[in-house]
Amino acid sequence: MLTQSQLSERLVNHGQPSYRATQILDWIFKKRAKAWDEMTNLPESLRVDLAEHYPLRPLKHTLTKGSEDTTRKFLMELADGRYVETVLIPASPALYGERSDRHTLCVSSQVGCAYGCKFCASGLDGFTRNLSAAEIVSQIILAEEMSGEKVNNLVFMGMGEPLANFKNLCLALEMITSDWGLNIGARRITVSTSGLVPQIKKLAELPQQIRLAISLHGPDDVTRDKIMPVNRKFPVNELFEALRFWNLQKNQKITLEYILIDGVNAGLDHAAILAKRAASIKAKVNLIPYNTVEGLEWVRPSDIACREFQKVLFQAGVSATLRLEKGHDIDAACGQLRLKKEKGVL
Ligand code: SAH
Ligand code: SF4
Repeated sequence: MLTQSQLSERLVNHGQPSYRATQILDWIFKKRAKAWDEMTNLPESLRVDLAEHYPLRPLKHTLTKGSEDTTRKFLMELADGRYVETVLIPASPALYGERSDRHTLCVSSQVGCAYGCKFCASGLDGFTRNLSAAEIVSQIILAEEMSGEKVNNLVFMGMGEPLANFKNLCLALEMITSDWGLNIGARRITVSTSGLVPQIKKLAELPQQIRLAISLHGPDDVTRDKIMPVNRKFPVNELFEALRFWNLQKNQKITLEYILIDGVNAGLDHAAILAKRAASIKAKVNLIPYNTVEGLEWVRPSDIACREFQKVLFQAGVSATLRLEKGHDIDAACGQLRLKKEKGVL
């Protein structure tokens, strides 16, 4: 799968007229061809040549968990036998301010993750490799095919750290937002990061109005250092300086993701610092009670404690959602399904 300019260049270099690019992109993104052979308005020799170099379907669906009207999780196999997860969530979280008939797809950007956050299944087995732009985009095409639903919101909150795969992320964003591609509006796309400061600044400079979510999980260095090793490289003050830069470039609110873990970051003192931090960049906060991961000993606070935490934010005038758990029963925290598959449990 190539972008329009990559494809035109490739075709022209091989003596083909450039209008072939338009034909091919139409087959891939609009008609959703499953094989090069279906592209009957292309010369056969060209189809054979392209089929040899560019697999049209780099992912294979292997398993679905969950059912219609609930969160559905798709496990997809890559050509090298690795697995990625993609999750389809029927009503998009109130947090994003969308209508409830929307479908949000949560895509992966890497196999595994190098950042090793202490609460996260994706980081448990370390980093394997980046996904190509084609592998990222194919998750959307395949999820639409499997579910029969049109994806209208996209979040990069699956496995991996999207900003550590920056080049492929940008190529994928081009394929996803262009009218020759999937044509999903940039404002309907959220990239989530654990806080890679230089890449946040680079992303801020892209012309597309994509949204940004930060996996904060600790409002100060002492708390964040304990659970997110990335904080030692990019401490909270530096991160917030990058977020202020983001605010200057874009006119949408940043979302701060905050997992509530009992005895770690869920005290009312943490809430007060978080409230100040969020207010300083006019961010909204998404509180997520910790989702149990096999092999990790963290636990979520009681519902009452979660509500108390949220109240502190409200009282400071910060908008904060407390996410009602969806997909808790299908290993919805990123990386859990794939780990089971690779360890032979599934
Ligand atoms: N690497 C990026 C993108 C992945 S997003 C990032 O960290 O932002 C995955 C989201 O799920 C992150 O906000 C992450 O902190 C959260 N998450 C990971 N493990 C979780 C768990 N056990 N319970 C709830 N949320 C979890
Ligand atoms: Fe990687 Fe994000 Fe999980 Fe941290 S939370 S290990 S950055 S996927």
